[in-house]
Amino acid sequence: MCGIVGYVGPKDAAPILMEGLRRLEYRGYDSAGIALARANRLKLHKSQGKVQALEAILPERPKGHLGIAHTRWATHGEPSDINAHPHADGAGRVAVVHNGIIENAPELKSELEASGVVFTSETDTEVLSHLIARSDGERLEDAVRSALQRIQGAYGIAVIAGDQPDRIIVARNGSPVILGVGDREMFIASDAAALVRHTQQVVYLNDGEVATVTADGFETSTLDAAPVHKTPVEAPAALDDYDKGGHEHFMVKEIAEQPDTVRRMLQGRLDLRFNSAHFGGLNLTARELIDIERIKILGCGSAYIAGCNGAYVIEQLARIPASAEAASEFRYRNPVIEPNTLYIAVSQSGETLDTLMAVEEIKRKGGRVLGIINVVGSTIARACDGGLYLHAGPEIAVVSTKTFTSTLVGFALLGLYFGRIRDLAPTAGETLIRALQALPDQIQEILDDTSAIETAARFCARARDMYFIGRGLGFPVAQEGALKLKEVSYIHAEAYPASELKHGPLALVTPDTPVVAVLPDDALLDKNLSSVAEVHARKGPVIALTHPGVRCEAADHHVIVPKSVPELDPILIGVALQIMAYHCALILERDIDQPRNLAKSVTVE
Ligand code: GLU
Repeated sequence: MCGIVGYVGPKDAAPILMEGLRRLEYRGYDSAGIALARANRLKLHKSQGKVQALEAILPERPKGHLGIAHTRWATHGEPSDINAHPHADGAGRVAVVHNGIIENAPELKSELEASGVVFTSETDTEVLSHLIARSDGERLEDAVRSALQRIQGAYGIAVIAGDQPDRIIVARNGSPVILGVGDREMFIASDAAALVRHTQQVVYLNDGEVATVTADGFETSTLDAAPVHKTPVEAPAALDDYDKGGHEHFMVKEIAEQPDTVRRMLQGRLDLRFNSAHFGGLNLTARELIDIERIKILGCGSAYIAGCNGAYVIEQLARIPASAEAASEFRYRNPVIEPNTLYIAVSQSGETLDTLMAVEEIKRKGGRVLGIINVVGSTIARACDGGLYLHAGPEIAVVSTKTFTSTLVGFALLGLYFGRIRDLAPTAGETLIRALQALPDQIQEILDDTSAIETAARFCARARDMYFIGRGLGFPVAQEGALKLKEVSYIHAEAYPASELKHGPLALVTPDTPVVAVLPDDALLDKNLSSVAEVHARKGPVIALTHPGVRCEAADHHVIVPKSVPELDPILIGVALQIMAYHCALILERDIDQPRNLAKSVTVE
């Protein structure tokens, strides 16, 4: 779930590992630790809290040319010094760092305890260190392989042993591990962010693969020790993608990147000749698409909300019934997979476990799945039959901004393409294309003057509870606005369809509960204005997100965004809501890039 780094080579490992941990801090974590091999012994240092706290307890010049380190996001056992990784066996011979969850840890633990093993932590990971230490196999990789044969669950691991101080053994099943190839030195990490400072040559491990990493290179094999040949590829991102580039936070940097990321999303995908869209990797012919009777979109968090928007847009443009569901719910309800339904999985990281499991369930039952994914080559991207990449660059802030926006653009492109295969008229396609092309400049316009948004944020930052309302296509973006606000500012915020307000939540509207109303200048404007009037009549303060020329008498604050076509309006309103959430969090001095209790890619259930 969280971060792994490792180093073997001629240099001192500790500074490289600590720097690697700092690069992974963005993912959110609660403790950190490091293990170094020196003179046939392992030295472990672990601390609850930030990497800085670990730094403070390290000896002045920790020695060793081989080591592994970890940032933990607790799943089993509270965040504490003892539960922090690495975990060693009783004799301190092997040390393990692990991302993910070992599902059969309780049974393995009872078995090990019955044979006299004493556990020191509450983690699931510790079973692995004892199993490896007790496995037969002279070489560390053989011991790791035989221990892993007994493990059920998801893992990305790195293991070192004091008596074999020339190698790190890494393995993955459902949680990423990458090798970085240097000049007579090797790096490992769970995320390219920790590698790109040292090398651009990387090797991705697949599920079920194990690698032996030494200063001179690497050997990869399967869990059954069958050799696998792999060649390094160019790292997908450059070093400055991981810097704040003069911004105070990654969140605001990533919001500011959106004119560019939307341009990249559109690049090469607009078909001006037929007023349609084209994609490199959908792997679906027009013939196959004609037979699609239904579309079902799956995702978690912002990806799910983007899917709700996508369902509206596709249904509107292509007249194919479409709906979205939280992948985390879908996978557990033994879903009916229909032959003529197209499934679309959305995930920024491409590693979200709930979404991956949903994809695997659909595929197991013979369904066809497309992915909308940011991270190229990620597990979900590989599990899907085809799809589109967002190409938005690494998203470092835990909350998604630019990838949410790009996903919405992706759905508009799919809606255009599916629509033009069916009933969408060429002229309607042309209008949509023009509107898509105008988006980057319109987003820039919002970014260039955020004064009205900041004023609204100053007002909202005083609230304890808030509501976000919207109708039709305005509802998913209201949901995303509420989610963004609660994630980064910790203000309690809920979204309701504007039409639902009077059926319950209106009871809670008082002068202390600001209501953010999504009021696009579209066919539903009058209905929306009536909902706002109902709020105003109960003295609820109103922040209106609307378009030039709309007069909302009942609003206390107006935020005016540029007008697009109805299908794309939520994209621009969404950007304004991201900025508002950011400013609320800034005023409240929150930990914006790493909100409490949240992690970037949720690779656990
Ligand atoms: N399940 C392990 C633990 O709770 C690993 C968590 C992680 O992925 O950071 O210690």
